[in-house]
Order: sequence, then C-alpha cells, then structure tokens
Amino acid sequence: MVRPKKHLGQHFLKDNNIAQKIVNSIDTNLSKNVIEIGPGMGILTDFLVKIPDIKLSLIEIDSESVDYLKNRFKEHKLAIIQDDFIKPKVNHITENCLIIGNFPYNISSQIFFKILENKENVIQVVGMIQKEVAERLKSPPGNKTYGILSVLLQAYYDIDYLFTVNETVFVPPPKVKSAVIRISRNNRLSINCNEQLFFQVVKMAFNQRRKTLRNSLKKMLEGKDVSNEIFSKRPEQLSVDDFIFLTQSLDIIKAE
Ligand code: SAH
Repeated sequence: MVRPKKHLGQHFLKDNNIAQKIVNSIDTNLSKNVIEIGPGMGILTDFLVKIPDIKLSLIEIDSESVDYLKNRFKEHKLAIIQDDFIKPKVNHITENCLIIGNFPYNISSQIFFKILENKENVIQVVGMIQKEVAERLKSPPGNKTYGILSVLLQAYYDIDYLFTVNETVFVPPPKVKSAVIRISRNNRLSINCNEQLFFQVVKMAFNQRRKTLRNSLKKMLEGKDVSNEIFSKRPEQLSVDDFIFLTQSLDIIKAE
C-alpha cells in the first residue's frame, strides 16, 4: 500500500474495469513506446504490462510509489523512473511515443504544455483529468470555456472525450468528477506560421480575454494601426485557423 499524499494529487483508482477501459483506449498499433505518467500503485500498469511487445516506461515523482512499483513489477521488463514529469529542462519523452496516465489534477495543464513542447514525438495521449478541464480542452470557439489549451491542443491534436468517471471509484475520492480523454496528433504537419509567435499570441490574447485583440496585443503591434476586422474581435471568437491567420498578419506587421 502507498499512503495517499494530497500534495502529489494522489487519488488511486480502485476500479479494474475502468482501468482496463482506459488502457484499451490507447492505440498501440501507432507505436510501441508507451510512457505512463504517475502510475501510483500501478492499477493501469497492471493492464499495460499485459500488452505484448510494448516498451513501457513509468515516470513517478513519489519515492514511496516507486519502491512499491519496483517490487510489484519486478518480474516485468519496464523502466521505472523517479522524477517530476514537468520539471523544466528534463525530458522523458522519447521518439514517437504514446502517453497514458491518471494524471495528477493539480498539474494537468502543465502536463499538456509539456506534451505540446514535444508534439513532434507524442503521437497519442490517453489521460484521466478533471471533467471540467476535459470539457475545456474540447471546447469550440464561442464558448466561455474556450481558452489557451483548447486552441493550442486543437491546433495539433484531435480530441475525443471518451467517458466520465465518478468520484467514488478513487481512494481517497477527489472533490470533482473526472473524465478520460484521448488526444491524437492530427494531419497538420506544420501550422504555416511562426510557431513561437503563434503560442505567444494565443497566450497573450487569452490573458486578457475580455479585450479586443487590438488592445490585448498592443505590445506586438508596436503602435501600428491595424484595420483588419480580426483585431476588433475577442479571442474566444477565433478558430484555430483564425489564430494562424492572426499570427501571419502580426509577423508581416512586425517585419514592416
Ligand atoms: N495512476 C494511479 C495514480 C493516480 S494519482 C491510479 O490511477 O491509481 C496521480 C499520480 O501522479 C500519483 O501517483 C502521484 O505521485 C503522481 N505524480 C504527481 N505529480 C507528479 C509529477 N510531477 N511527475 C510524475 N508523477 C507525478
């Protein structure tokens, strides 16, 4: 047994049917490199080790869990790494990999940012997160919950909301409902604009989401007058393609 630690977001899933369903949702035909984030006591790991021919790595921050897992899976060939998945400058993401996990909810956004930094290598992710966050990631333009991660993830990934999970199947139960989502790399190989600027624009626009883009992006406009009607809009009105167009326009303005 591992004693659940609140500060590490430890809520252990206790329902094997749900665990099996989560593991079944990852498509190991896409790649054999599988990384599990936050295995805890290994309820997902137990099903993952049954998949033939995969190369499985576990990244777990908690030393007590790591000791427990090393013992529990000592008969299996798998890498158990004790580390913080979101630590800057450290990267456990390997070439063409799949990521799975019941993520620690307190850092789920940072996990997705890390995945985006490595989008060339992350083909698919199946993750359990807070239901509300799952809805936000999937949210379309025009919606109150459409935000930075919705745009950035939707630019590169197709997002499937798979199913909702109740509090009662965890020990200890979290205060919120959970959901399992699957994000799969889309066909957009390049977003056809300055990618670094694209990330900056999306973040800057949503950091002042009530303002028009003309106002929230003032710094980038360097005092230049912009007539295109897109600048009179608010970020939540823009689709991914609109943000790409906006980035292209800003790149031209900056170069003038
Ligand atoms: N997968 C398990 C545990 C989920 S709880 C289950 O379904 O029961 C989340 C897990 O993520 C915990 O084991 C916690 O220790 C781990 N964790 C928390 N922060 C982490 C981080 N920064 N990097 C890696 N693992 C982390």
